[in-house]
Amino acid sequence: MDNYSIIIPSYTVGPDSYKEIPRYCALYGTKAVVIGGKKAMAAAKDKLLRAVEGSPVHISGFLWYGEEASYEAASVLEADSRVQEADMIFAVGGGKAIDTAKLAAIHLEKPFFTFPTIASNCASASSVAIIYHPDGSFREFVHYLETTRHIFIDTDIIAHAPWEYLWAGIGDTYAKYYEVSISARGEELEHYLAMGVHMSRMCMEPLVRYGEKALQDNKEQIPSYDLEQCALAIIVTTGWVSMLVSRRHNMLYNGGVAHALFYSLCSLPGFDRTHIHGVVVGFGVLLQLMIDGDEEECRKLREFNRRIGLPTSFEEIGVTMADLEKVADRLITDEDVEHFPYPLTVEMIMEAAGKLEHP
Ligand SMILES: [Zn+2]
Repeated sequence: MDNYSIIIPSYTVGPDSYKEIPRYCALYGTKAVVIGGKKAMAAAKDKLLRAVEGSPVHISGFLWYGEEASYEAASVLEADSRVQEADMIFAVGGGKAIDTAKLAAIHLEKPFFTFPTIASNCASASSVAIIYHPDGSFREFVHYLETTRHIFIDTDIIAHAPWEYLWAGIGDTYAKYYEVSISARGEELEHYLAMGVHMSRMCMEPLVRYGEKALQDNKEQIPSYDLEQCALAIIVTTGWVSMLVSRRHNMLYNGGVAHALFYSLCSLPGFDRTHIHGVVVGFGVLLQLMIDGDEEECRKLREFNRRIGLPTSFEEIGVTMADLEKVADRLITDEDVEHFPYPLTVEMIMEAAGKLEHP
């Protein structure tokens, strides 16, 4: 038997979570440098400075991460003396800023902490970075990175971010449950995989329960309990699940029809520029449920989507049945459905899509 370790990052959440910075960060030294998005740093700067005031931790600078989450942007940061001299890195922002800061921190072998300023993805908790080329096109996933030493989730900052991030984050996050659980169906799983698969239910339940109110509170900029529950599902639970299920089994349990649908539709000209990932993925779950014959769950989720304004038909995402037929081959061979419990066929896709369009 091999030895292996499982590391799951800890978190602090609340409207004043940054107050805990000295407690978790002073162990790693005194000098911190912030790497983040421009809007994110504008939202977090005063709170970060106030949080470390009078503590052993000192923030030596606030650096913009760059245009893209790219190796090129990370190497600019790695060459900066303020980054080189720091004892630790504070990654502040959405997915791209955090992924870029992660790359720089890992190359320089420095501990880092994450400060998500939107509730849209699990970059703050996961051990994956999504890397782009400097022109914005997708380059690759980098897996098994070092993880954050702690996540600080300020719900007041998140409540003041545009609600569309949360909206799309909801669709992408509940998909985790439906995709992970179908990929692992009927399998005997060892400890950490079983933990991840069972925990994935928490990527869906809180969102369906609190999502509608959380979106309303986000529009009114209220850091409510409902918003907090949704932020935790999107940022923390999904990160934990993805780390547990992807450890040593990268694409086995992550992914499913919802992501395969999104990536195959991206082969239609202009689709990726006019559609938001999480919104299409959230709709794609309905297709997966219909293929799987779970019409009751499909009906419930469809009702939820209707209430929060996520799409419930191909028509709403501007895709015709002829468009779908064009990409269906690609969908069934996408790596996201490589580990599906049964073989998918074009006929299955088209039949389920027909049912969705004409309920
Ligand atoms: Zn996704």
